[in-house]
Amino acid sequence: MPLTPTVSRAIASVPTDLLIDGSRIAALDGARFDVLDPSNGMALSSVADAGPDDARAALDAVVARQRGWARATPNTRAEILRRTYEILLDRTDELAEVITREMGKPLSDARAEVHYAAGFFRWFAEEAVRIRGTHAVAPDGRGQILTVREPVGPCILITPWNFPLAMGARKIAPAIAAGCTMILKPAPQTPLSSLALAAILQEAGLPDGVLNVLTTTRANDVVEPLLRSGRIRKLSFTGSTAVGRVLLAQAASAVVRTSMELGGNAPFIVFADADLDVAVEAALKAKMRNMGEACTATNRLYVHEDVAAEFTERLVARMRAMPVGDGSDADVLVGPLIDAASLAKVERLVADAVEKGARVATGGSAVRGPGFHYEPTVLTDIPGDAELLTTEIFGPVVPVITFTDETAVVDAANATEWGLVGYVMTTDLDRAQRVSAALEVGMVGLNTGIVADIAAPFGGVKQSGIGREGGAVGIDEYLSYK
Ligand code: NAP
Repeated sequence: MPLTPTVSRAIASVPTDLLIDGSRIAALDGARFDVLDPSNGMALSSVADAGPDDARAALDAVVARQRGWARATPNTRAEILRRTYEILLDRTDELAEVITREMGKPLSDARAEVHYAAGFFRWFAEEAVRIRGTHAVAPDGRGQILTVREPVGPCILITPWNFPLAMGARKIAPAIAAGCTMILKPAPQTPLSSLALAAILQEAGLPDGVLNVLTTTRANDVVEPLLRSGRIRKLSFTGSTAVGRVLLAQAASAVVRTSMELGGNAPFIVFADADLDVAVEAALKAKMRNMGEACTATNRLYVHEDVAAEFTERLVARMRAMPVGDGSDADVLVGPLIDAASLAKVERLVADAVEKGARVATGGSAVRGPGFHYEPTVLTDIPGDAELLTTEIFGPVVPVITFTDETAVVDAANATEWGLVGYVMTTDLDRAQRVSAALEVGMVGLNTGIVADIAAPFGGVKQSGIGREGGAVGIDEYLSYK
């Protein structure tokens, strides 16, 4: 495939080989794969394509290095994390460019992602020196009980393409803080952000073999033997619920501890007493950040019928005004979707809804030209059997559904196998508390469209996942009690 003519210095400076035990090496069988720029479908770079032999080498490295790394002092680990934070901030523009080119999001979103990712290194630098056990007198008074906390051991970290830097950072930083060695397997669409981050960690002083990176298109061939090896102690996965189920079954074979950050189907509820300025702004953030390609993206927007007309009119006006195009153009707010398959899925979901009776208030089509762009789209009059109500849309499409009754809308919001996040727009404090409590989700956005914060535990209930990332509890996923 021809290389895009606009490959920049930022892209050219990213290493493209595997990182195993501190060395950059080609895949043993010499395989490589192209990384595409979703704004034009052209190849940006090509990276090593790891196979099972490379995975075995990485496994040997994490197992061999675990004991020594566990003995590194908390101060040493904290200082590496802190230096990483500083380097990430210094290189914000360069890294943002890498993210935008391989993933498609606008540069403003990419810069925000670099800051979010960097924040995990600062946060866990501070947590690394605060790992505490407990002491107690035994209830029968005949002894004392001392608990200490130890790194869980070698980990596999698997990340998706939608936040290519931050999803790795949210796992790597606590694993380093806890004293675990790790193998990172990034998504094949976006390996460059992970490779750039690994180079920065090396520069910050991370010892050889603590972080190993296997870029691959052969995910199952690489990961399954590792999970079944009995030598890996922890799997942290972010991705779809369907893949999460497969990995949970594989992890069960060797009783590997798991953290699962899976899919969502976020309801966004606008009550009649909501401040509509706040609600429209929040809806735009909850839907359009990352072109809707976020696990936290609202998938179903419920609006009380008293304010539905005004809210929808305002939302449509704002969505219609959002410039679509190449994410690296300064004024673009909506970049391309990740690939042709994602674009086809969004087209299919909209066509299904429209065929069954939905009305297109704005958008409703793919954008012609190079790349995988879709128009910001608002649909109304949504039929109850529209597939997009029960499928992650993962695109810039929002179905607006009207309601009248609080209990009924909460029941509708909860009528899904997922439970990652719910958004509630209201100025009534009692209602805010009542509805937040009634939603079956791991996180609630109250009068805001963004819930992710480094200091807040991130994660879901039901089939949205197991465990939490970030916050004061994020490090627990990488520690065990003795
Ligand atoms: P995905 O298809 O589940 O893939 C996620 C990762 O798993 C990729 O690296 C993928 O590599 C790998 N993978 C797939 N099958 C595998 C297997 N059998 N063994 C080992 N690894 C395997 O998800 P995605 O399309 O990249 O990302 C979108 C999904 O992630 C959405 O469902 C979204 O909601 C979810 N997500 C959740 C959170 C959260 O924190 N809850 C955050 C972001 C995204 P390959 O592509 O090579 O298969």
